[in-house]
Amino acid sequence: MAKITVIGSSSMDLVVTAPKRPSKGETIMGESFKTVPGGKGANQAVAAARLGAKVYMVGCIGDDAFGKAILENFKKNQVVTTYVEPVTGVESGTAHITLAEGDNSIIVVKGANDYVTPELVEKALDIIRESDIVLIQQEIPEETVEYVSEKCHEFGVRLLLNPAPARPIRKEVIEKAAYITPNEHEASVLFDHKDLHDALLEYPNKVFITEGKNGVRFHNGKQEVVVPSYPVEAVDTTGAGDTFNAAFAVALAEGKGFEESIRFANRAASLSVTKFGAQGGMPTREEVEERM
Ligand code: ATP
Repeated sequence: MAKITVIGSSSMDLVVTAPKRPSKGETIMGESFKTVPGGKGANQAVAAARLGAKVYMVGCIGDDAFGKAILENFKKNQVVTTYVEPVTGVESGTAHITLAEGDNSIIVVKGANDYVTPELVEKALDIIRESDIVLIQQEIPEETVEYVSEKCHEFGVRLLLNPAPARPIRKEVIEKAAYITPNEHEASVLFDHKDLHDALLEYPNKVFITEGKNGVRFHNGKQEVVVPSYPVEAVDTTGAGDTFNAAFAVALAEGKGFEESIRFANRAASLSVTKFGAQGGMPTREEVEERM
């Protein structure tokens, strides 16, 4: 069984649908309200577990009702929570999402995710050392990403860095990661708006750009390659990137090659966009295999 450690955020998404966005000082009546578990770290952990990997989550929850719900959701999805720590006196991470007029607007409050520190990761070093692959994103402090990149490099464990949300990354971290998976916007921030063809050429078979329904682009050392996505009726693309990263990690951990792993991840991610919610559409292993 593939063994994967995910180091990252977990939060609760509070989703309101409304006929319009209230203006300054205005109160309006909304139509519906839902709470759904989210956070890029948690999403990737749940997606990898559904695809059949043994997944260890390293993260933090607040000491509130959302924290309990986040923990229950991990357990329901068979994610190991030994390294998910409650932080006293701090609220859980939350995303406040308004769906109105065909678009969303989001306020993220980091809460307990700011406590995913190198000291917390240190407690999980034994499990990191034994992992087939480690997954990390950028909803946690930058120093933690740097620390994890050093440790993975020292242990010879592959690190998959999903550089979302976008922020500049130190060159040493880019060098130490085995794979980096920006979307188009994140790629332009990561490479400081330089020509993306040149940027991909600099990191062959390492940096690849996910381009939504257009598939995935990378350089194989000889030429630029596009691995096409699978045509589906998209209902909700939230979490497509998270499913993609998790599925790519699972495939690699099971010994599949680079391009084959991208194809597997494209399949899983295309299934995820056919249902509502980030985690709602994440497919099981059987569902992906039926497609193959
Ligand atoms: P998000 O932030 O919404 O989770 P992202 O911007 O990080 O997503 P995308 O590049 O939009 O990531 O999507 C990731 C992968 O999901 C794509 O490489 C593709 O495999 C799949 N995907 C996304 N949108 C579609 C779509 N409309 N049809 C088929 N596959 C899709």
